[in-house]
Amino acid sequence: MTTSGIGIVGTGISGLTLALRLQQLGVDVTLYAEKTADEMRSGRLPNTVARMWHTRDRERALGSEHFVSDGSLARRATISIKSEPPLEFEGTLAQPMHAVDFRLLLPALLDDFTARGGRLVVTHPSPGADDVSRWSASQELIVVAAGRRSVAELFPRDGHRSPYDRPQRSLLAGLYTGIRPADFGYNVSPGCGEVFQMPMWTRNGLAAAMLVEAIPGGPMEPVTQMSYEDDPRAFIRTLENVLAEHTPRIAERIDHGSFDLLGPDDLLQGAVTPVVRIPVARLSTGRIALAVGDAWITNDPITGQGANLGSHSAWVAAEAIAAGGPYDEAFALSVAAEMWKVAGPVTDWSNAFLQPPAEHVLRLFMGATTDQSLADLFINLFSDPVTAWSLFSDPAEVDALMASRVKVAS
Ligand SMILES: Cc1cc2nc3c(=O)[nH]c(=O)nc-3n(C[C@H](O)[C@H](O)[C@H](O)COP(=O)(O)OP(=O)(O)OC[C@H]3O[C@@H](n4cnc5c(N)ncnc54)[C@H](O)[C@@H]3O)c2cc1C
Repeated sequence: MTTSGIGIVGTGISGLTLALRLQQLGVDVTLYAEKTADEMRSGRLPNTVARMWHTRDRERALGSEHFVSDGSLARRATISIKSEPPLEFEGTLAQPMHAVDFRLLLPALLDDFTARGGRLVVTHPSPGADDVSRWSASQELIVVAAGRRSVAELFPRDGHRSPYDRPQRSLLAGLYTGIRPADFGYNVSPGCGEVFQMPMWTRNGLAAAMLVEAIPGGPMEPVTQMSYEDDPRAFIRTLENVLAEHTPRIAERIDHGSFDLLGPDDLLQGAVTPVVRIPVARLSTGRIALAVGDAWITNDPITGQGANLGSHSAWVAAEAIAAGGPYDEAFALSVAAEMWKVAGPVTDWSNAFLQPPAEHVLRLFMGATTDQSLADLFINLFSDPVTAWSLFSDPAEVDALMASRVKVAS
């Protein structure tokens, strides 16, 4: 068997960004998938992702910008904490975020790859660790971007970087009709959970995407585990009640006659155990496998960073791969160290936000309710996780920032 280039396993945003970038840089790539583009277009809602401007810039640089309709871009975001009256502020994003159903975006990216001559190998049933080893015989390096479900046996959990051994939220993600449109909203019901809501471009045009993050054992949890198909009306009634109780800002935009899921498949229920895996594995062929995206790090979506991080990590890996081998263990470890510069802050931030907010984070939040420039800064932290975590992890940085604002105001 002759060595041919780089093998990539998985066609999520991480694998596809990596494949398209390597293709653009002239590197020979084979992409291993478990589904064709058409198969990816059907099926259950996989997530409700907001892509920040860095991610969108990378897609633009690849010539793969898709489904950008005006209504699916959010330019403003509101953060609201339930209290009487609600504590809240609204900020403007320096660059809009974009949300499109990944059942549309990912097949479009895959079609770009194959239309540009990319080599795609689709294997049914889903390939596993043995297949990865077998494929590695004909590749100089295998990058595993197979998401949180898959090929995990190659990449054991890194206990030092994984503080949780069970999910911290029960999730209900869905696409809905019957909600008056609004920009991005992050709603917190202290001690109960969070609800994110934003406009999203879907197979039915513009709709409202909503993610309920319920604290296990709390009052928001039952709806995240209730079956829609058994009794759609009871499900919707229960969800309406949860929103009325915990997120009045969303509830006030609901039209009770028409509020519903777009369709039974436009719903995802489950939970994520946050985990960081050891990203480098030596395969039976002696070749190296490098994990990126959710296959390496799966965070709870509480900070909306996973897909953005997958796109970033893929870009970092592509640049290093295109610079040349040998693609040995030292190479893979140095790529992982480079990716961790952003992945580390994203992971620590996401894990911290699963706990009640620290006093200095609340102080920053309170400041933003009365200072528009602080509100804008806070909102834009979601597209700058390194700065976000340097602030959220350090009371002294928050103090310094607040003090500088007071000086500006006086
Ligand atoms: C409800 C929800 C909301 C979210 N919201 C956000 C958000 O707002 N912003 C954000 O940035 N992130 C968000 N995320 C996280 C985000 O969805 C993931 O981090 C991201 O999609 C991971 O991409 P990936 O390419 O690494 O993995 P995946 O998307 O899981 O893709 C893996 C791919 O590999 C394929 N595959 C699996 N096994 C194999 C195999 N053995 N062989 C070949 N192929 C295989 C799969 O078919 C799939 O195509 C959210 C997640 C959830 C669940």
